[in-house]
Amino acid sequence: MNRPHGTPPSSPAGPAASSPPRAPRRRDSARPAGETPALPCERESEILRAIEARHWPDRCDDELRAHSASCADCADLVDVATALTGDREEAMRAAHVPPSGAVWWRAQLRARQDAARAARRIISIVQAAAVLVAVVAVFLIVGPVLPAIHWSLPLIAALASPLVLAPVAVYFALTEH
Ligand SMILES: [Zn+2]
Repeated sequence: MNRPHGTPPSSPAGPAASSPPRAPRRRDSARPAGETPALPCERESEILRAIEARHWPDRCDDELRAHSASCADCADLVDVATALTGDREEAMRAAHVPPSGAVWWRAQLRARQDAARAARRIISIVQAAAVLVAVVAVFLIVGPVLPAIHWSLPLIAALASPLVLAPVAVYFALTEH
């Protein structure tokens, strides 16, 4: 009632003033001096649930809205939570999700590649074992008649080449992925 002259008694916003769009309601002076600010308001969780469920402010109790207008903690909570919820919805709208067919196709391709890699590893091990068996068999067969052979350089080279090549083949077979 100590309103100075020239100031209108209320905001002449007309019918649009019934629901201001997210008007910040800061009542920093609403907290009495004796109140301890460490204790959060017990209705903050209620307001937060309403905001996260998108019930705020249209589908909330009038009493809850009135409380947030009169409580500094809850007014701050409304400001921050509505801003964060809006940001999250914006990010989810902007996120590019690949179509399910592409995801399925990539999963199938990866499974096939894994199976082929495992099969190649088994084949390499079998090949290496076969080479070793063949070399041992050759020596078992040829060994007894070795003293009777007339040794010549081409024959020695022909017989020695598997001895040289077998370890190399085994190495490449075992290290191939
Ligand atoms: Zn409150």
